[in-house]
Amino acid sequence: MNLKSLKFLTNLRKENHQFAVIGLGRFGRAVCSSLHQMGYEVLGTDIDEKLVTQALTQKIASHAIQLDSTEPAALKEAGIFEMDTVIVAIGNYLQESIITTLNVKEAGVKCVVAKASSEIHGKLLQRVGADRVVFPEYEAGCALAENLTKPALLDRFKLDPNNSIVEVLVPEEFHGKTLAELQLRLRYGISVLAVAHEDHLITNPEPQYKLTQGSIMIALGNNQNIQRLPI
Ligand code: ATP
Repeated sequence: MNLKSLKFLTNLRKENHQFAVIGLGRFGRAVCSSLHQMGYEVLGTDIDEKLVTQALTQKIASHAIQLDSTEPAALKEAGIFEMDTVIVAIGNYLQESIITTLNVKEAGVKCVVAKASSEIHGKLLQRVGADRVVFPEYEAGCALAENLTKPALLDRFKLDPNNSIVEVLVPEEFHGKTLAELQLRLRYGISVLAVAHEDHLITNPEPQYKLTQGSIMIALGNNQNIQRLPI
């Protein structure tokens, strides 16, 4: 079980949510197919006709259109400006990535997520209005290091740069103890939002709830405090 399989975060936003992914490289295709598999409406676009055809053949998007995203008219005609979220998945073409992000923000798209391939690229994307900038290679590297050193930390949802909701295996040290006994808020500054135990999800567990080693705690807290957990 992980945060994504619990789907409590995605379900909150599911209704009528439409996505467009601009750029169907490896990153763009992965975003497209994951969203599509989760049941969202996704429009994939690329300047390269071959990649568009491939997206349709492999059924990784609901729709796919060939267009040059530096041209506002082409974006408008494809309906990109009506999407709730647009992902600009163009990493290697700096100019195209910046112009595309500017185009969709200027047209009023509420949520624009853009992929950056360097720090300066990220800064430029923010300057032209990207609501969220992602650095996939950097983030994957950090996640791998965390996973190698803290294998009990199963998943992390970053709320902001300092705070996260994490999914962690209950450590041996916590086994058989109640939340009240453990005083996690006082000792670690974290709040337990839910516990997944043998396929049951107990939300807002009572202070008298007893933890079992191997169950999964879903906890909210500051990253430094989470790091101090004995997992
Ligand atoms: P990967 O995800 O494979 O590591 P990447 O994210 O660095 O690569 P890029 O090679 O930068 O991806 O480009 C992603 C896609 O964006 C390419 O398939 C490219 O054809 C497409 N692309 C580039 N310029 C435009 C444009 N002006 N309009 C639409 N698509 C474009």
